[in-house]
Amino acid sequence: MQQPTSSSSSPSRPLPDGSTNNRTNNNNNNNNTGRPNSVIWAQLSKSSLEKGQNQSRIRSGLEQSKTTTSIVDDTSDTESLENSLFYPKGRKDSRSVSRRERIKKIMCNPTITESIPLAPRVLSNGTHEFDPTIIVLSLDGFRADYLERELTPNTLSIGTNGVWAEYMQPSFPTLTFPNHHTLVTGLYPSVHGIVGNMFYDSNFGEDFNNRFPAKSWDPKWWGGEPIWTTAVKQNQRSGVIMWPGGEVLSAVRPTYHVPYKTGTVLEKMDTVLNWIDKPREERPTVMAVYVPDIDSTSHDFGPDGKKNQKALVEVDTALGVLLEGLQARNLDKVVNLVVVSDHGMSYVNTSKCIYYDDFIDTSDLLFEESLYPHLAIWPKDSKKLNDIYHTIKRAQRRDTLPFQVYRRFVMTRRDMGVVMAGVHGWDNENEEMRAIFLARGPSFPNLGSKKLQSFENVEVHDIIARTVGLPVKDGATDGVRNGFVSKPC
Ligand SMILES: [Zn+2]
Repeated sequence: MQQPTSSSSSPSRPLPDGSTNNRTNNNNNNNNTGRPNSVIWAQLSKSSLEKGQNQSRIRSGLEQSKTTTSIVDDTSDTESLENSLFYPKGRKDSRSVSRRERIKKIMCNPTITESIPLAPRVLSNGTHEFDPTIIVLSLDGFRADYLERELTPNTLSIGTNGVWAEYMQPSFPTLTFPNHHTLVTGLYPSVHGIVGNMFYDSNFGEDFNNRFPAKSWDPKWWGGEPIWTTAVKQNQRSGVIMWPGGEVLSAVRPTYHVPYKTGTVLEKMDTVLNWIDKPREERPTVMAVYVPDIDSTSHDFGPDGKKNQKALVEVDTALGVLLEGLQARNLDKVVNLVVVSDHGMSYVNTSKCIYYDDFIDTSDLLFEESLYPHLAIWPKDSKKLNDIYHTIKRAQRRDTLPFQVYRRFVMTRRDMGVVMAGVHGWDNENEEMRAIFLARGPSFPNLGSKKLQSFENVEVHDIIARTVGLPVKDGATDGVRNGFVSKPC
């Protein structure tokens, strides 16, 4: 059984860019909303179980082979506590890659962004001119090792005819909405504010819930500027199909938009090809397409179930239709195509639950919410924050419970339910949470079977931006490329 990890560390240990400041509180860019606030993320409530409440919440299985995470925070200023948590000490999960090792590897290996020209040019397919154009497909829940199953030849062909990463590391928490907004803004969830698919914001005194569009499309929740908005502001055009956040009622909307949770994957490919066939002055240069099918089936039947395999084949077949459509239009070397995922997937063992009300007094809590596999907790009285945090820490150490507890400030830089067969949301350094990145087209080199070094998904925004000549963040914001990616060894 995996042992819990300690979260204590030296207060003066610098961040990768050499700073020691709290980046989350740094309002040096207009993308920083200062949200989210206030949380302890822990586990399940036994009292909920005893009360027979919502079974889906009660049985949020927490497989003890994984280190899950709890986050503690509120708006009170307890500097010493923050500093003590900057870098959790080495976790015992042998599958994890230590942050220090990863940074070292990144520093000594150029990343993909360096291969992409900053000044793309107009290309022709022989009959029509094309402004620099990119299609970004997100295959929700496509775990990195699925590529090895020999079920997805079309997906794999994108990498072998261009570039692909060993894996792409999702941001924490490894959930759909946070990571999709990270992919298109280049910001960590703690900065853009979408820290879960469902969460409570103590500044607003309201819940965000991705299942209630009337609430969740309010732009007040969504920090940062998605790439499709930047494209429109820069006099380009963009098209969004179902991508989480695409329907946000912001002042500048994508040029074309297909609502969330509509259409089959084949219909989405047809829509993309229809956009491609538009006249140059109407054609979107940035297209973002969301495909949830693989994630949905692996939640219900597990990452290795037959239905998940079937979904992989179906999605890959649809991707093949898009590839054929591009080839038929002689666009293989004209239009860039990127395939990513937001996170991986793990099996859930529902017999291994942790009951947080065994060690904390829930009457002290303002709010608690199961966010499989996390729990966010707000103290009623912010002065009790430290007491509650330390109580949870003591229980974790005493009983060697396989979870971690953090304040929200750690989310940006950390090292790192529901009756379901598969769950994601775990530690973003867990191997089973690894996502994919494959790309081909005129802006990408053809490296054949050679895989690129893994990288974090906050990089994807700049990769997209560079291919179509949009401004890159380049470490200027809390996207935190940190500059280290381009340092020579
Ligand atoms: Zn997802």
